[in-house]
Amino acid sequence: MFRNEMKLEFKSISENESFARVVVAAFASQLDPTLEELSDVKTAVSEAVTNAIIHGYENGEGQVTLRCEIEDRKLIIEISDNGKGIEDVELARQPLYTSRPELERSGMGFTVMETFMDSLEVESEIGKGTKIKMTKTFKSV
Ligand code: ATP
Ligand code: MG
Repeated sequence: MFRNEMKLEFKSISENESFARVVVAAFASQLDPTLEELSDVKTAVSEAVTNAIIHGYENGEGQVTLRCEIEDRKLIIEISDNGKGIEDVELARQPLYTSRPELERSGMGFTVMETFMDSLEVESEIGKGTKIKMTKTFKSV
């Protein structure tokens, strides 16, 4: 089986949303993804990183960790923060649920991640942080 992996840590600031997106796209490019697959992955990564920054750390100090793995044609992405955590993960994952309507969030981040990736797992502990694991298997070329 072909395997590869990478890990990256960056500061929790909004400038790093696009940085993380481009890094994952560059790592995934070794699988010769279609433009659509690449765009799906980038969108999902943006949503997860934005959540870590604005909800996990509430725009304050923090580090976001990005891990990617490749197993044959499967890309596994983990995005984690050591922020405030999610009280009710099931509720948070509901379409249109947001804890920050005053920030004009639409509550669609998790739904977008679920739609564009094959699987989404959310692990979270109050006061400890949140880890998002997403996978996508790319079509054979
Ligand atoms: P949108 O993504 O549409 O701008 P949103 O971020 O509120 O709005 P989701 O991304 O679906 O919507 O997240 C739903 C809720 O889950 C958030 O409002 C927040 O309460 C919680 N949440 C998500 N990610 C984290 C995180 N990393 N740390 C703490 N809370 C989180
Ligand atoms: Mg969001």
